[in-house]
Amino acid sequence: MKINSISANFSVKSYGQNKLTPKKVTVPMPCDSVSFTGKNDNPKKVIILLGAPNSGKGTYARQISENLGIPQISTGNILRKEVKDGTDLGLQAKSYMESGGLVPDELIMQIFKKRISEKDCANGFVLDGFPRTLNQARQLDNILSEDKNTVTQIVNLDVEKSILYYRSAARYTCEDCSRTYSIKENYNPETAKCDCGGRLVKRADDTPEVLSKRLENYDKQTKPLIDYYGDRVSNITVQSKDTPAGEIIDTIMDKIG
Ligand code: AMP
Repeated sequence: MKINSISANFSVKSYGQNKLTPKKVTVPMPCDSVSFTGKNDNPKKVIILLGAPNSGKGTYARQISENLGIPQISTGNILRKEVKDGTDLGLQAKSYMESGGLVPDELIMQIFKKRISEKDCANGFVLDGFPRTLNQARQLDNILSEDKNTVTQIVNLDVEKSILYYRSAARYTCEDCSRTYSIKENYNPETAKCDCGGRLVKRADDTPEVLSKRLENYDKQTKPLIDYYGDRVSNITVQSKDTPAGEIIDTIMDKIG
């Protein structure tokens, strides 16, 4: 039930005639999306994709975004653009990213808050690579609760480690739109192009050395989020590199319905 205003009869004393006169007063509600019961009548869809580096978060987040008509927010893509543009933020983030470490929470929260304040996030968003620490997860809960929203679905992609290394070696990323492609052999950087026309390049952190550092950090700092969200997490296990991506996205869509 949406409440736009409250009406009530108040007794107002009229001094001239020394008698009580009922008077109708209408008080407008300050916010039209929050009902009288304290619930949000137009809740955002906030979907989190958890999973190790190379587990496919980006690929599935993009498909969920297309299916549900809400934007994908990848903090990694935002950071890579800042690095490419040589901004202050990019300069601060670069060394953490290249070494396989996590960018400090303070910088991440800054870019996250800015991104979700944009118009296209009004109905929700799919989070890919955020939150990555317990502190980020708690701050996300606080931000959402400010307008009576909450995380609506959490999907955890549990992918066999050998597949993560295989995918890292095969992955090329579009310089312009960040879409990723799996290209193992016969890759010719002169001719292979993204659907958007952008050049496909190897990410600086797609090396076995950096990946093992990233996996170490994932185990220490990000994996605890699975316990944090507890039974709200839908687990999707991928044990073979040959499992078709279409099959996985169908399972995800079934779970987040
Ligand atoms: P991704 O594209 O999600 O794999 O992120 C690439 C890199 O950006 C990560 O290895 C981190 O260095 C950094 N990064 C992206 N998202 C976050 C985050 N939520 N918290 C901390 N660092 C992040």
